[in-house]
Amino acid sequence: MFKRAINQELMRNNNKAQILRCVKAKQVVSKRELAEELGLSTTTVSTFIRELEQENLIQNSGTARSTGGRRSLLYQLNPDYCYTLGLDLQVDRIVGVILDFKGDIRAEKEIPFREQDEWKVVPLLKSFITDLLTEHEIPWPKLGGIGIGVPGVLSNEAESIDFAPNLGWKNVDLPAMLALDKPVYLENEANAGALGEVVFGLGQNVAHLAYISVGMGIGCGLIIDHKLFAGHLRNAGEFGHMTVEPEGFPCRCGNKGCWEVYASNSAALRMYTERTNNDRITFLEFLHRCHENDPHATEVLQTVTTYLGLGIASVINGLNPEMVIIGGEITNVKSLIFNSLLREIKERTLEKSFAGVRLEFSQLGNKAAALGMGTIVLEKIVNALP
Ligand SMILES: [Zn+2]
Repeated sequence: MFKRAINQELMRNNNKAQILRCVKAKQVVSKRELAEELGLSTTTVSTFIRELEQENLIQNSGTARSTGGRRSLLYQLNPDYCYTLGLDLQVDRIVGVILDFKGDIRAEKEIPFREQDEWKVVPLLKSFITDLLTEHEIPWPKLGGIGIGVPGVLSNEAESIDFAPNLGWKNVDLPAMLALDKPVYLENEANAGALGEVVFGLGQNVAHLAYISVGMGIGCGLIIDHKLFAGHLRNAGEFGHMTVEPEGFPCRCGNKGCWEVYASNSAALRMYTERTNNDRITFLEFLHRCHENDPHATEVLQTVTTYLGLGIASVINGLNPEMVIIGGEITNVKSLIFNSLLREIKERTLEKSFAGVRLEFSQLGNKAAALGMGTIVLEKIVNALP
């Protein structure tokens, strides 16, 4: 008897959770559609819809004409139930977005920083969070959680940062240092970027996606069968450290000749400095010079494009993705590199894999990872309900 009562309670919660998730997935939906989709009676659906409305989780969103000319009420998630904050901690800037409960973008903000010392960056991150909420008049209690994309390797439970070579961080317990009374989730920035592309960008409905995040290093977020692939120790996608020059320059990971030492933004700047002795130029200035046909910059961009292409070719040969999306500031010179990059990739990939892949440049600016993090937090909140 007792066991049966527990089972009934479980089933009840399960039905309610299913309805909530279905409203989220469909964005706008009628009771009848919910009943058909979930195989529930309309009475059951009506009961739970009423409860979800009372809990402020969903709301009415107009009517639609259904068969027989009758109008049926439509439902959606209540966008103001709570908000999530998605942050991308890059090596020289913080990018943040606020998503509402429906997953729409409510606000975005970006600030640069110079000193990468964790004791300097963390307070900055903390004031960035409070400023962003204040500027958009979102009260602290309405914040459901914070997600932070980081350029590095996380602990097995993704609770802290083990190693972020391009920030110079080792064993940094970021959530503890932030000391906020909100859940803080971490994810590798390339993984977050891949999710951002799937939800907001070019990767929608793509089952097998490789998102190549080109920054001061190179990260790769992999979506396999519509799911983020993390690997045995959450360390998958570190293609930036595959060797492309056996006797090449040393890498911050301890190896030498890694892909990111030849194809990242820092690689371009190193090569440019070798040719011009100019070591003060930023990557954006370098890209600007490429657009102005500066001969040194153009030559360096060609070399970097060759390395970028040969690495992407290996990713394609190994994973047979449906789409490869390149993210990062390098997207600013898409028109200058697209053809040579595609040629490089074609020459080095298996014919069948090349024919089946689409090469794209991210259209999310530098927001892919922040959007992905906001989405991760939203998923966690919805999965913990009702
Ligand atoms: Zn390396």
